[in-house]
Amino acid sequence: MDFKRYLITAALPYANGPVHIGHLAGCYLPADIYVRFLRSQKKDVQFICGSDEHGVPITIRAMKEGITPQDVVDKYNTIIKNSFEEMGISFNIYSRTSSKIHTETAQAFFLNLYNKGIFEERESEQYYDESKEMFLADRYILGTCPVCGNNNAYGDQCEKCGSSLSPEQLIDPRSALSSASLVKKKTKHWYFPLDKYENWLKEWIVEGKKDHWKSNVYGQCKSWLDNGLYPRAMTRDSTWGVPVPLPDAVGKVLYVWFDAPIGYISATKELTNLWSDYWCNEDTKLVHFIGKDNIVFHCIIFPAMLKAHGGFVLPESVPANEFLNLEGEKISTSRNWAVWVNDFLKDFPDQQDTLRYVLCANAPETKDNDFTWKDFQDRVNSELVAIFGNFVNRTFVLMHKLCKGRVPKMHNDIVDVSDNGLADDIVATKLKVEQNIENYKFRDALYEIIDLARKGNKYLQDKAPWLLAKTPELQLENQQKIDNCLHVCLQLTANLAILINPFLPFTAKKMCFMMKVVERMLEWENAGRLDLLKVSYPLRAPELLFKKIEDIEIEQQINKLKETQKTIKMSETTDKMDNTETVRQEIKLEVHAPKQEITYEDFAKLDLRVATIIGAEKVKNADKLLKIELDLKTEIRTVVSGIALHFKPEDIIGKQVTIVANLAPRKLKGIESKGMILMAENEDGRLIFVSPLEKADAGSEVK
Ligand SMILES: [Zn+2]
Repeated sequence: MDFKRYLITAALPYANGPVHIGHLAGCYLPADIYVRFLRSQKKDVQFICGSDEHGVPITIRAMKEGITPQDVVDKYNTIIKNSFEEMGISFNIYSRTSSKIHTETAQAFFLNLYNKGIFEERESEQYYDESKEMFLADRYILGTCPVCGNNNAYGDQCEKCGSSLSPEQLIDPRSALSSASLVKKKTKHWYFPLDKYENWLKEWIVEGKKDHWKSNVYGQCKSWLDNGLYPRAMTRDSTWGVPVPLPDAVGKVLYVWFDAPIGYISATKELTNLWSDYWCNEDTKLVHFIGKDNIVFHCIIFPAMLKAHGGFVLPESVPANEFLNLEGEKISTSRNWAVWVNDFLKDFPDQQDTLRYVLCANAPETKDNDFTWKDFQDRVNSELVAIFGNFVNRTFVLMHKLCKGRVPKMHNDIVDVSDNGLADDIVATKLKVEQNIENYKFRDALYEIIDLARKGNKYLQDKAPWLLAKTPELQLENQQKIDNCLHVCLQLTANLAILINPFLPFTAKKMCFMMKVVERMLEWENAGRLDLLKVSYPLRAPELLFKKIEDIEIEQQINKLKETQKTIKMSETTDKMDNTETVRQEIKLEVHAPKQEITYEDFAKLDLRVATIIGAEKVKNADKLLKIELDLKTEIRTVVSGIALHFKPEDIIGKQVTIVANLAPRKLKGIESKGMILMAENEDGRLIFVSPLEKADAGSEVK
């Protein structure tokens, strides 16, 4: 199908931190390449983005820093916007969801659905912080992770072990805002009945999109649909966000994933009065560029919302990328494990295109990929500098030296097979680049361009015009050969500028300057032509297109990361130390406070015995527990003891311990524990067994 217009969106970045290379590689760079390619074909295209400024993490950050949520989003919106501009990400508009036009658009969208009776109103019990007088979203709730015991797990996820959780699963849930323990209170919300759109979505995605959506995107959608869809609350109890436009909804805002994608529409409205030409026409191609964590929102929830509203075009494709890791570890904003775009540009000024190159050549298009500084250096030096930059530079230097700085004439009577071969390569490369970009295979497209430059280098090497110039007796004949060679190389240079333009726009611009051509030459239809540079046209002196990356620059970056790693480790140890410190003080207090006096009869109720440990192993999914087998001479007992952090199982076998043998049995992690091992504590707070000084008879009574 031929589309009249293109509406390209890139995921709205969350305004609670700067942009890092993972963001760029994930969606902004591929989206920008695609848009620049469309623009070079003179297509009618709008490239839409903006900051996502609502949601819980922003309010938490504001509370932590003692500023307002508005202060937080103002700060990061500016940083993010500047980073994109500097990297040449060429949005038609970069808006924000805290704008008035967005509030109006999102509220009107909600009311449209509300008036059609689409929402289901439901009351439910949710955690409420009485001291702050507010309901808490999952992220505001902290507690102990039931899986790993981390006592700062969030109500939706434990960041230590990665388990996804619900607030109900947390042990001892407390408020992240006040540390108060929580009460449950009734609250009303509006649910979008995704289940009612399940059949339609199956038809649209499974029947309609399977042939051309990326397999990672299609696969994720298919598994959501196979598992069945459920109604989802589209409102939240909060004061930061788009207010729910209903009289009985005081203190409620739209769910951030309801309002954020509508941000694409409101940003287009802000950009142009003709916004509905793009959003409400079947001949618009709507493409959402996103990272893989947003697939469900863009492929299932937002399309269902658009369908429920009616009148909007649906996404034709959602080319989501996988994740980019950094030096083998997941990039993390909160842990500061990232290469921030604003930092990169400080350390590598004017090297936007080298970063664009590496992030595209190594893009996580089909699987997670790793960014390493060594690989960055290798790709820049051995591909960008040694192949592309080198070809253009040699061509210009030789043209100035051997052709008086002017585009030489082509002598058609001596054209040979390698001249024609290179001309064919240019046309073939253009087609391959086109096909790859149209299928969102930007990495392959870029590879084809570098490969064409490689062919140019080989051509130049084979023709060796510098050798031809050294034989004065054949001067006239050889000059014609030199002319042809450099004519072809210069036309190839012009073609390379057109092909590389969507990927490395700063470089293409520099090449236009050197060739003294207007940037209109970069229009895609010109690719493949061999008359782009006019004969005897004087060209400028060459400038280096790319800078070689030195070892020392890479070392500095690696050291920077090592410092970060140290800080991360230190803060993790401090956390742990803080915790043990409190626990230990509590224990000490218990030790020092004398207990109430008891009678001998009370004491005699205890059945204390010496036992020998004959087996010990860790309990699955419980960091602190050991399952211990004890020999009591008359029987073998199983006891589960919370000492795994202090002892390795293999170290305690054969040791004699004292146990309370007549303690009522209880189940821990599904294992019945009969009895309790007595422990004391040394100065360091380490647990030690209470053992007989000499070897005792196993099972003997302690009196
Ligand atoms: Zn956990």
